[in-house]
Amino acid sequence: MPELPEILRIGRQMKEVLRGATISAAAIYQPKCLNVPVEEFLCVQGRRIVDVEPRGKWIMVSLEGDLTLLLNLGMGGELRYHPPSQPPAEGSACQARFDLADGACFTVRFFWFGYVHLVSGAALANHQAGQLGPSPLDDAFTADDLRKLVRCTRRSIKSLIQDQRVLAGIGNAYIHDILFLARIHPTTPANTLTDAQVNRLHTAMREGLQRVIDRGGLKWETDLFGNNGEYDAFLVGYRKDQPCPACGAAIQVIKTGSTRTYICPYCQPFPDGK
Ligand SMILES: [Zn+2]
Repeated sequence: MPELPEILRIGRQMKEVLRGATISAAAIYQPKCLNVPVEEFLCVQGRRIVDVEPRGKWIMVSLEGDLTLLLNLGMGGELRYHPPSQPPAEGSACQARFDLADGACFTVRFFWFGYVHLVSGAALANHQAGQLGPSPLDDAFTADDLRKLVRCTRRSIKSLIQDQRVLAGIGNAYIHDILFLARIHPTTPANTLTDAQVNRLHTAMREGLQRVIDRGGLKWETDLFGNNGEYDAFLVGYRKDQPCPACGAAIQVIKTGSTRTYICPYCQPFPDGK
């Protein structure tokens, strides 16, 4: 599932190749991925792309006329740019296609489900993409900001930092290593974290995500041009029964609510020692 590192990469690439381009035609092959009727959505045609900004798991494409196209690959998918000389292969499946005035196009393909939404002006504030928390990578997001977020809730720290309204971009792929780097048990109530733990978590989120960004995202995810990322060096994530890189203990998988989390039981003890 693409998370912040992958979406950041695709969003930056889209900004580079699409900014200033005009959408000459749009084709929607799966209307249920839209938030408006197809006829209404087609008002994107003829509009210029003003800017592209990755935000959490969303890519926000600003169009002239105060419209925003919001793309989310959900549980997995591909956003692909096709230059004029390399159109999509005949019969290749996608849920949405946007042709550009220069002969290029970009396609959106979901493996399961995803969203192609269109909102106008102030309505963005009421859309979930307009209600995202800060990015853990923002320079303006400090350890003190994180402290304020964790102080006011007994929710488990794992579910809190995966809540996109609290922090944007961390999903189920990188959470394991982030909590491991911070040496925090995933079910720890957020408001019981010590100052030292909050500081470690703040650093771990940034370092944990940056090491993936530096390698272009996950090995099995592709960028806007179809190139795979290079990252597969998980520390504890997806490494059940293998040795912890810090202490050598066997990595365990534990149930955390409806999800599972990979942890080192020694490096990430539950606060009361259980
Ligand atoms: Zn360990």
